[in-house]
Amino acid sequence: MIGLFGGTFDPIHFGHLRTALEVLQALNMEQVRFIPLHGAVHRAQPEVSPALRLQMVEAAIADQPGFVADDRELKRAGPSYTVDTLTDLRREQPDPVLCLMMGLDAFNGFTAWHRPEEILRLAHLMVMQRPGETLLTSGARELLETRRCQGVAELKARRAGGVMLQTFTQLQISATQIRGMLSQGRSPRYLLPDGVLQLITEHNLYTRKGGYTRVVSPI
Ligand code: ATP
Repeated sequence: MIGLFGGTFDPIHFGHLRTALEVLQALNMEQVRFIPLHGAVHRAQPEVSPALRLQMVEAAIADQPGFVADDRELKRAGPSYTVDTLTDLRREQPDPVLCLMMGLDAFNGFTAWHRPEEILRLAHLMVMQRPGETLLTSGARELLETRRCQGVAELKARRAGGVMLQTFTQLQISATQIRGMLSQGRSPRYLLPDGVLQLITEHNLYTRKGGYTRVVSPI
């Protein structure tokens, strides 16, 4: 089984990394692939360029076996549709079961994504609970009721289309909070790996008060 963890990773932090490790271990996955998106579809565009966000992901996961940085969305022009990423991956890796990882916040909006039914034909969903979040939308609730897998064995018994909701260690860290600290001249150390902070410092990232520099050039 391969876990797919997409996000802006603007920047990647310990909230992402700790949950990814727990998912890797809990589901005995071969890999978790971190897939930084190029252009956001449902939210504001990332502040930092694709190349630097990828570098930060690579620095964060360098010494963790099973963690892989996947730049396929960065190489594709236009918006990052998950269904295209899954189709691409499935072509490249026909055998392993694919499991799309997302926070509960993302799952709440999942039915409004581009071709959600197609996504569920290609992969399972592993929904990771974050601090203070509840299932809000009726679409998300319905999906969970009809497709819920209670455990790893149930998930692994099917090739795709299952939804598993699991609570992992809850680290109340967000990239928004980290960007805010940096724009106010405060250090976000211990919220993210030192290697990532080093890149942020080197390139003077996220220092503009309240602003987005919107560097969105392709890598
Ligand atoms: P931002 O604050 O800019 O919205 P973020 O910290 O939520 O960023 P993203 O890159 O947007 O990070 O998130 C990618 C995925 O990681 C999403 O599915 C999100 O739910 C999940 N995620 C983000 N932070 C955490 C956390 N602290 N614990 C668990 N999952 C998280």
